[in-house]
Amino acid sequence: MATTTAADGLAAVRSDITRACRDAGRDPASVTLVAVSKTFGAEAIEPVLAAGQQVFGENRVQEAKAKWPPLIARQKQRGSVELHLVGSLQSNKAKDAVALFDAIHSVDRAGLAQALAKEISGQRRQPLLFVEINTGAEPQKAGVAPQDADAFIAACRNQYGLAIAGLMCIPPVNEAPAPHFALTAKIARRNGLELLSMGMSADFPVAIGFGATHVRVGTAIFGSRPALSRNE
Ligand SMILES: *Cc1c(COP(=O)(O)O)cnc(C)c1O
Repeated sequence: MATTTAADGLAAVRSDITRACRDAGRDPASVTLVAVSKTFGAEAIEPVLAAGQQVFGENRVQEAKAKWPPLIARQKQRGSVELHLVGSLQSNKAKDAVALFDAIHSVDRAGLAQALAKEISGQRRQPLLFVEINTGAEPQKAGVAPQDADAFIAACRNQYGLAIAGLMCIPPVNEAPAPHFALTAKIARRNGLELLSMGMSADFPVAIGFGATHVRVGTAIFGSRPALSRNE
């Protein structure tokens, strides 16, 4: 029986990133692959670490807190691991999130910005921060409405003293992603933000064409997740 391993998936995603960069006239080193390992256990993650992947994404603070410290401890000889929180963050978990994550892709509310600012100064840690834009204005989805983005980014900077590094978006599932990537890139440009977290398994090559600096890829590396976890 032919099986596709996560290491095979990783290699395929890396070569797709290289090709998309070539097509877009970009340096592949300008795109960071965030391997989204949510729902997968240590046994699934180990081979991906062994294949040289060092940047991982999780969507739940509690899950990451239970799963990653032992993996990171075992990883010490091979080099460092960078952990990115790609899922929504509750303000009461800001403390744990700042302690554990090197990047937070889901800054989207004043209360959260305030909680993060307090933890960042208290813990003297500076995770890379992305403001999440709800480009499809979907009521059930997290993120700042596009028309509120400039004011929210300004408030993060001026009111809370947060160093916002970039923007993140998750296009609506049933729409072509390109206009959403273009809109996110446009909002970033006019706010002087250099990083763009956009593109998932289905659309990361398209996102790279629109300037993505961080692509968040789960399924194409690890295989499909249990159905229940898909929209978490
Ligand atoms: C799960 C998740 C991903 C990865 O999605 P895939 O389609 O499995 O590549 C990316 N971004 C966020 C915010 C996620 O929750």
